Amino acid sequence: MSTATALSPEVIAKYQPVIGLEVHVQLLTKTKAFCGCANQYGSAPNTNVCPVCLALPGALPVLNRQAVEYAVLAATALNCRIHETSVFARKNYFYPDLPKGYQISQFDRPIAEHGWIDVPAFDAAGNSITKRIGITRLHMEEDAGKSVHDGFADSATCTYIDLNRCGTPLVEIVSEPDLRTPDEAFEYLTKLKEILLYTGVSDCNMEEGSLRCDANVSVMLKGAEQFGTKAEVKNVNSFRYIKAALEHEIGRQIEIVESGGRVVQESRLWNNAEGRTFSMRSKEQAHDYRYFPEPDLPHLIVSSEWKAEILKALPELPEARRARMVAEYEITGQDAQVLTSTRERADQFEAIAKSAKSPKRVANLFQGEMLGRLKAAGLELEQSPVSMKGIALAADLTESGELSSKMLKQLLDICFEKSEDFPSVYEREKPQQISDPAAIEKMIDEVIAANPKQVEQYRGGKKTVAAFFVGQVMRVSKGQANPALLNELVTKKLDAPE
Ligand code: ADP
Ligand code: ZN
Ligand code: MG
Repeated sequence: MSTATALSPEVIAKYQPVIGLEVHVQLLTKTKAFCGCANQYGSAPNTNVCPVCLALPGALPVLNRQAVEYAVLAATALNCRIHETSVFARKNYFYPDLPKGYQISQFDRPIAEHGWIDVPAFDAAGNSITKRIGITRLHMEEDAGKSVHDGFADSATCTYIDLNRCGTPLVEIVSEPDLRTPDEAFEYLTKLKEILLYTGVSDCNMEEGSLRCDANVSVMLKGAEQFGTKAEVKNVNSFRYIKAALEHEIGRQIEIVESGGRVVQESRLWNNAEGRTFSMRSKEQAHDYRYFPEPDLPHLIVSSEWKAEILKALPELPEARRARMVAEYEITGQDAQVLTSTRERADQFEAIAKSAKSPKRVANLFQGEMLGRLKAAGLELEQSPVSMKGIALAADLTESGELSSKMLKQLLDICFEKSEDFPSVYEREKPQQISDPAAIEKMIDEVIAANPKQVEQYRGGKKTVAAFFVGQVMRVSKGQANPALLNELVTKKLDAPE
């Protein structure tokens, strides 16, 4: 058996990998694609079934309207053109978990084509660029059932079949062979998932199989005109593993070509424990699915009126939202990136940013104080003891100087320890305020005496230096000086004739 690690960087550098991804996404409809059975993960085996999805003789499929609407939403979010007319087709093959002996899919007339996703990438010189990856098509189809091999006494000799998944509505999203590195494939999948989650058409949960990816990869000599023969890596259930599988597979293919061999067109399985791919079945003559139009379903017509109706539910998409948030709240692109990583998070941020004294401060606090604490506590944002309202209050108090950053950290620690929101913790634990003018003036005098240079700047006309003094006195007072009074007294002192 060859090992990919034997290749020198010089040899690897001679080759250009080419990658195209086929992603299956389960849609979050209440019922299945062609019958009224519940579309639900985790039910007891063979309980969400009926004559249609069990393929009993004479049963007829009826298309789920919601599935079409989700397909249109997803396709539009992926910049695809929606075809007014598309056609369902039978894709025939035998598999124990496919009782009909065919899958209802779309073949030569899919519902959508010609889309794209912009992904972050690097050019040959190593500069950051944005690369547009083509989406060949998005089509609708149904899922098959599941063969279960684990958890039975006779697993060694028997396969169990669970048909709950039969007829689950899917969209398959096929990329152009535009990806050139495993990193680009990773970025593409990350963007794709983010966009799909924003549209709400799928939960994209990879552990439950809601999003599954087959990765096609080939290698050719750099500058070659023709792509090499591809292999397809199936059954990889995380983006990180897909990247690892592609890296391995590229090395394997380069080794074959380098030693004068020929890459075979086949499906391969990724074995995570061993960190390599294994041949599953040769695909050389496997292309005959005998597709033909599904006689039990009429052509699917998505009229422009229906399409317009569906697209009313299309939310602002992540990229556009980031750009708008940067402009609207004066936060950085990096802030916006973190704050828009999910639609819920962005919604929550925007709900409070509108009324906060400084949205920028809210963004900073969120990133600087909240994310780390959530991670350390193993919590999702939704489980946070501190609500977005709490973050907003904390940001306002810090912005006005009523709360030193040290005090803020202590209060947030208490919130996480006691699983209590910020406003109530603040009320209980907030520092005693010093509102005695004489006491504050004394501190101001000390700070002024210690910083002659800044005093000179201020008196030379640089009035913004006042903030420096406010900050210093706040520190001296351990965050306890009454901020309004402090501001007033600082200006008074600095403006006073010497
Ligand atoms: P198949 O008929 O084997 O399913 P397709 O032409 O439908 O092949 O392509 C399936 C996927 O493989 C697409 O994502 C496509 O971009 C990708 N692909 C096609 N040819 C190559 C190649 N030579 N190397 C890498 N990926 C490829
Ligand atoms: Zn059913
Ligand atoms: Mg194909």
